[in-house]
Amino acid sequence: NKQVILKNYVTGSPKESDMYVSSNGTIKLNVPEGTNGVVVKNLYMSCDPYILIQMKKPNTNSSKPPVSALTGFGVAKVLDSGNPNFKKGDLVWGITGWEEYSLITDFQKMFKIQHTNVPLSYYTGILGMPGLTAYCGFHEVCYPKKGEHVFISAASGAVGQLVGQFAKLFGCYVVGSAGSKEKVDLLKNKLTFDEAFNYKEEPDLDAALKRYFPEGIDIYFENVGGKMLDAVLLNMRVHGRVAVCGMISQYNLEQPEVLHHIMSVVWKQIRIEGFLVFDYYHLYPKFLEFVLPYIKEGKITYVEDIAEGLESAPEAMVGLFSGRNVGKQVVVVAHE
Ligand code: NDP
Repeated sequence: NKQVILKNYVTGSPKESDMYVSSNGTIKLNVPEGTNGVVVKNLYMSCDPYILIQMKKPNTNSSKPPVSALTGFGVAKVLDSGNPNFKKGDLVWGITGWEEYSLITDFQKMFKIQHTNVPLSYYTGILGMPGLTAYCGFHEVCYPKKGEHVFISAASGAVGQLVGQFAKLFGCYVVGSAGSKEKVDLLKNKLTFDEAFNYKEEPDLDAALKRYFPEGIDIYFENVGGKMLDAVLLNMRVHGRVAVCGMISQYNLEQPEVLHHIMSVVWKQIRIEGFLVFDYYHLYPKFLEFVLPYIKEGKITYVEDIAEGLESAPEAMVGLFSGRNVGKQVVVVAHE
């Protein structure tokens, strides 16, 4: 059983050499008699920034990480099942191992795939955790109104590209920031954003935001934190809303950056609200009903960055923190 294993706990930014791919793992492909586990063959793995949590040293005395596969969201096929809710041949998405085969025993985040007339990899992205994040983040936390002006950072990524398209479909004016010309072109030409800019080429983020939002920002969907959040605070409208989905620019710093414009929250009566998608899984069926027709009608596009094989997983994972991924980063473990 080929597995991606953490070699040592990460300090600072993760490196490829913090992980290794081992072919020494063994797994029984039959569920142990009398248990309700499910053995799956993994097909697609999702690279998500939160996986970094497993890679940083926990508050224990252990200096070495466990010699087991990293875990994360994935798409898999059931090979054997002792659980009445899953049967051999079922396709599922949820938490599994970064390995060829996994024994699943926790079913809280394991969903049977009902709609297979879409690319199965979509269940790591638009039809999986990032899709639900974008949906509940925008519709439940941003309190949007038609015509409002929306700004999204890390806009071409797994979550950002969907927030932008959901906001456009809702009738908002939408601007995104991203870290390369290729991503900016994608946002404007393929992902329906009204405007986009490369934040790495803007010496003055405040000036850039004023260019795209001369009358201010109503909604900021926050994915990066740090200097971008500080500049956004200067440009929010009165009663604006900031949905804090993530702050990827801060994850690998020893100390988070200081915000200089936090007092704007008071003067402008801004509502800043953090959220975790795990609180919104009950909305998944409603979300599917919302998003599937848009996919089928071609009204939503989903850009994926597909890496082949478990061997490519360390590079793909690390790439999230340098912006190497263009769209949702997926790793193909096996073709069905
Ligand atoms: P993405 O697909 O957007 O990949 C990460 C992107 O972040 C990179 O491509 C890069 O894009 C950008 N980035 C990386 N480092 C920096 C940096 N130092 N400064 C600015 N941008 C940076 O990832 P996701 O869509 O999966 O995740 C987006 C955000 O949402 C993350 O903050 C993540 O933690 C959060 N999240 C939160 C959830 C929740 O429940 N609250 C659930 C899922 C995700 P670029 O080239 O544009 O810089």
